[in-house]
Amino acid sequence: MKIVCVALLFIFLLMGCSQKNTPLTVSNNKLNVVATTSIVADLVSVIGDTAITVSSLMGAGVDPHLYKASSGDLTLLREADVIFYNGLHLEGKMIDVFQKLSNSKSVTPIAKESLQGLRKISENFYDPHIWFSVPLWKQAALTVKNQLTQSSPNHKAYFEKNYSNYLHSLDSLDQWIRRTIATISNEKRILVTAHDAFAYFGAEYGVRIHSLQGISTMAEFGINDIISLVNTIDSANIPAIFVESSVPPKSIEAVINALKTRKKTIKLGGILFSDALGEKNSIAGTYIGMVRTNVSTIVNALQ
Ligand SMILES: [Zn+2]
Repeated sequence: MKIVCVALLFIFLLMGCSQKNTPLTVSNNKLNVVATTSIVADLVSVIGDTAITVSSLMGAGVDPHLYKASSGDLTLLREADVIFYNGLHLEGKMIDVFQKLSNSKSVTPIAKESLQGLRKISENFYDPHIWFSVPLWKQAALTVKNQLTQSSPNHKAYFEKNYSNYLHSLDSLDQWIRRTIATISNEKRILVTAHDAFAYFGAEYGVRIHSLQGISTMAEFGINDIISLVNTIDSANIPAIFVESSVPPKSIEAVINALKTRKKTIKLGGILFSDALGEKNSIAGTYIGMVRTNVSTIVNALQ
């Protein structure tokens, strides 16, 4: 009996040890992951880190609403083990491509209708720009962690650790945004941009938002949109307006020129990163750096 107990104890100890040894290091078999935008790619590479390789189809300054997959992209997508995209029609011209590929591999949108706190735009459409609410981005991080774990179960503990570390970084970012935006007086907390990418940001952090174009840059803007925005700026006495890195500046320039004809001048507050990160090795080349850069630009212009 004693021998049996000792043997059982030994087996339990072994099991305990082997569970503790679930790798926090990674094997050489790296998942080949392809993401659409640089913002999605950043999230995936933080959680997957050295267990995966990530390529992103769209780099700095590229507008995902208008983006069409090139033949090189299609090759990358075909060779990928796992594909992540934003979803909610952000990549409006790639929907067929995702549909076809999803027959043969995991193709995962990180912005899904099941997320808590989505903004409905119409019957069947939601605002896809979820990354400007940190609480929404944390939900997207969970989707990425779960999908990577499903695709590479050996790295479960590793993905879990990266995910929980990142949640702490995102919480710090969230707190920093709230503190920093609070330094702008309430009547100046108005953000005017080229297209409607900042509604989640506005709702989460208490900033009123106006834009020339709607949710997608696919929709053209007309003279009436310019007049309406000019009237808003005129009546609210807004100190600055902003261009976006992934939208041609001509739209915001049209607003500035229209204000000039009313003998009003308005400061250009700077360039905001809306639908793409900055260049790879710049501060705005990561999600957290991009959000911090935007918030600093906004605060400097509106304070
Ligand atoms: Zn957009």
